[in-house]
Amino acid sequence: MLAMQDESPAAAGGSCTPGSPPQWAPRVKRSLIRRLYEESARGLLDDELVDEVGIALLARCRSILTVTEAVRGRIECPSCAAVFSRTLPQLRCPACEWSLAWERYRATYKGRQLFGGAALPAFREFSRRYPRAKRVGDKIVLIDTVLHEYHWNLIRGLSEPQATRPAAACLVDARGLADVIAFLDELSGTRPT
Ligand SMILES: [Zn+2]
Repeated sequence: MLAMQDESPAAAGGSCTPGSPPQWAPRVKRSLIRRLYEESARGLLDDELVDEVGIALLARCRSILTVTEAVRGRIECPSCAAVFSRTLPQLRCPACEWSLAWERYRATYKGRQLFGGAALPAFREFSRRYPRAKRVGDKIVLIDTVLHEYHWNLIRGLSEPQATRPAAACLVDARGLADVIAFLDELSGTRPT
């Protein structure tokens, strides 16, 4: 019994211990975005709800940017945030003790709509601008713009293979393409002015 205590390293309380896999922000709930649009349409916009949606989108965008860079060979250490070139088969942060097999890292994002693909500039732009926005009106314009951008990409279509999936599928908890389109159409009916 006593020996078990020794086997357990001091992992409690740490956000990301060396060797632990990265954590990704989930897609944002449609119900939350829908509520924001409905309240906005009624002129009942509240700052907390705007930030709840905006910060959830921001966290998701940052996860997408990090995964997309990782796919392209640039790893951001989940422990100390240092950026380094991917090494195979084992990732090793040169700035701290974090280390993880690339296969394990890859398994954390596979099939979870975290690759930015052709919509990457839109995710990057939102990530850059949202934290600087001060006024609630500016925030909701950014939220609406980024959602509208995805819809626009979807209508226009893009030449790169990744763009055959709607970009909004990376951000919103819809089950598939039809659900994403239906949701964006629904939002168009209550777009903030
Ligand atoms: Zn590190």
